[in-house]
Amino acid sequence: MFKALVARFKEGCRTGAFPPAAPNLPPDFKGRPEIAANTTAEDVARMKAVCPITDALTFSDGKASLDMGRCIFCGRCAEACPKVRFTKEYRLGVFRREDLVVRAGAGEYVPPVQTNPEALALKGSLHLREVSAGGCTACELDANVLGTPAWDMARFGIRFAASPRHADAIYLTGPISENMQLALDKTYAAAPDPKFLIAAGACAISGGLYSKGRYPVEPTMYIPGCPPHPATTLEALLRFTGNGC
Ligand code: SF4
Ligand code: SF4
Repeated sequence: MFKALVARFKEGCRTGAFPPAAPNLPPDFKGRPEIAANTTAEDVARMKAVCPITDALTFSDGKASLDMGRCIFCGRCAEACPKVRFTKEYRLGVFRREDLVVRAGAGEYVPPVQTNPEALALKGSLHLREVSAGGCTACELDANVLGTPAWDMARFGIRFAASPRHADAIYLTGPISENMQLALDKTYAAAPDPKFLIAAGACAISGGLYSKGRYPVEPTMYIPGCPPHPATTLEALLRFTGNGC
């Protein structure tokens, strides 16, 4: 026992400094995209030719746009056309689906703040019931690390709950496959009111590479990525409860 305590003491604190320090993102991290204002229809056509997702890139009313809710952040469009670049902006979670669409020539980005009074009433305590509705498990794994000592989201009052009865929100990953539709509906119904639905990852937001099933209700937050980076998810969940970092 004594040896174990000494070993633990020598290990020290393994929890990262984020937040409040900036997250330690990998060199190839792809965050919020920027699209040059002069991007043409031909540029978009060139990018669409290499994009694996239908309708992630569009050109309408003379402007190019990229839908982060459909995008899997593979970076092929940026390789095909220098008018798109992926920044290191990791604060990608939004409260309205339309806010995931990045338009050409968009100005400075400011992440949206929580205004929902029922979410703010949680006062930072957020219990999530994860529903993996047919995803590839990468979204689930990157959410799971938030509970490890390295990220320790419990220090902010955010935890995954073992039962929907104890959950404030359903944390949905995966495209909602046919066989998971009923399970998602039942899990959402089992959570006490007021309750929220958080869609994490391209699959849960738009189906991603697959076709999407039906939400029990429209999500109250969307966290894009494939999978969303843990820093993106933690920052979004903190902002969900009104505790932005
Ligand atoms: S990064 Fe997104 S928009 Fe660009 S090619 Fe990949 S999926 Fe398509
Ligand atoms: S969004 Fe990407 S990482 Fe997440 S479940 Fe779908 S394919 Fe997997």
